[in-house]
Amino acid sequence: MDSTAADRTSVCVVGGGPAGMFLGLMLARAGIAVTVLEKHRDFLRDFRGDTVHPPTMDLLDDLGLGPAFRALPQRRIEQVQAPFSGGSLRVADLRALPGPNNFVAMVPQWDLLDLLARAGDREPAFTLRMSTEAVGLRWSGHQVTGVDYRTEDGGTGAIEADLVVACDGRGSVLRAAAHLQPRSYPTPMDVWWYRVPRHDSDPSGITALISRRRAAVLIDRGDYWQVATLISKGSDPAARREPVGGLLRDLATSGPWLADRTDALSSWDEVKTLDVKLDRLPRWHVDGLLCLGDAAHAMSPVGGVGINLAVQDAVAAARLLAGPLRAGRVSTQDLARVRRRRWLPTVVVQGVQRVLHAKGLRPALEGRVDLTGSTRPPLPMRILTRTPLLRRLPAQVVGRGVVTEPTPDFARRAPEPIG
Ligand SMILES: Cc1cc2nc3c(=O)[nH]c(=O)nc-3n(C[C@H](O)[C@H](O)[C@H](O)COP(=O)(O)OP(=O)(O)OC[C@H]3O[C@@H](n4cnc5c(N)ncnc54)[C@H](O)[C@@H]3O)c2cc1C
Repeated sequence: MDSTAADRTSVCVVGGGPAGMFLGLMLARAGIAVTVLEKHRDFLRDFRGDTVHPPTMDLLDDLGLGPAFRALPQRRIEQVQAPFSGGSLRVADLRALPGPNNFVAMVPQWDLLDLLARAGDREPAFTLRMSTEAVGLRWSGHQVTGVDYRTEDGGTGAIEADLVVACDGRGSVLRAAAHLQPRSYPTPMDVWWYRVPRHDSDPSGITALISRRRAAVLIDRGDYWQVATLISKGSDPAARREPVGGLLRDLATSGPWLADRTDALSSWDEVKTLDVKLDRLPRWHVDGLLCLGDAAHAMSPVGGVGINLAVQDAVAAARLLAGPLRAGRVSTQDLARVRRRRWLPTVVVQGVQRVLHAKGLRPALEGRVDLTGSTRPPLPMRILTRTPLLRRLPAQVVGRGVVTEPTPDFARRAPEPIG
């Protein structure tokens, strides 16, 4: 690519997901020129987690975006229940958390990202380029100096930057281009992602359905259910040799209200397989490049906490790097400081996910445990939920995570009117 044709910015953020959009907005509010590249034409992608956790809502309040956020269509989750054939057990009651944002909001992620893009539009230092996919890094010796990109219409170009931030998710091309090798942990499952029509008489909100070897989470999106069925890792090719109708018939065994829709899927093409990864980079940076969110530590969907972790990475990075960026001197020590700050919460959350994979999901998906057959919750869960001193712990971990990053003063604004 032509090195003379490169545009210039202070920070080039690659990936307009939760980490990238929050980071871009906050740095722009510090007066730092930021360009965010997003490979898709819009945010309306079907696969985006929908959970917005209390720390993210606190952050939106701090950024002055609380009123606009609360005006988005959303549902609240205040409790987390674990189903058993003998009933269900409340494992976390988020209402016990302090502050007004003591629930998880279920918001289509494209609405949240659009809101951040609109807020970014109001910042002179913020540029968002949609349909622009980073394809590689630009180097000067061992220092990353920018990215090469291609656009949806076949164009190519380059951006030079003082700092490139890879927020391009769990398949990050930039971390690979920087030869940063993650340590991977085994995951027992992949996810089938598909839609089923929803009727008014169905349950509403989030619903979990558990059959003998599969667990599904159904997200209520008004006139359809977005379904995520957990399947045993690697079992997809063999399962696809069976008629697709069996998938919904299986679901209807635990959700009989779906029995009138078992022919809703006409082909396996309507069922997307999402490869679940759990990994973590030992080092999140090289000179001139920092990885954040899933690009630094790919998260399993278990617990629905990856978005919150990615957003908290962005807050820490904005706070720690705005000063050096404004001074025009971001050192590798500055970049290492971000990882040091975010290492503990990442390791703890991934550790919990690994335990849940090994002790809960793997035996269940391999058919060694009948999820529908257990009449009592496991002992640790009973202790946790019945001991007053411990009862708040799951709510704290699920709702707020391990460390909440303070919002930098330069990013704070008074509540902005909706519009
Ligand atoms: C099946 C599944 C379900 C999940 N459900 C949940 C959930 O409900 N709640 C939750 O909290 N977490 C969930 N997670 C985890 C969650 O998706 C991630 O932890 C979170 O999205 C990470 O945010 P991010 O901003 O780092 O990356 P992403 O959300 O992956 O965003 C990356 C962005 O970069 C863009 N991009 C990628 N490559 C390029 C490129 N080369 N150039 C330009 N742009 C690029 C992508 O289009 C995307 O917009 C789930 C994960 C899986 C696998």
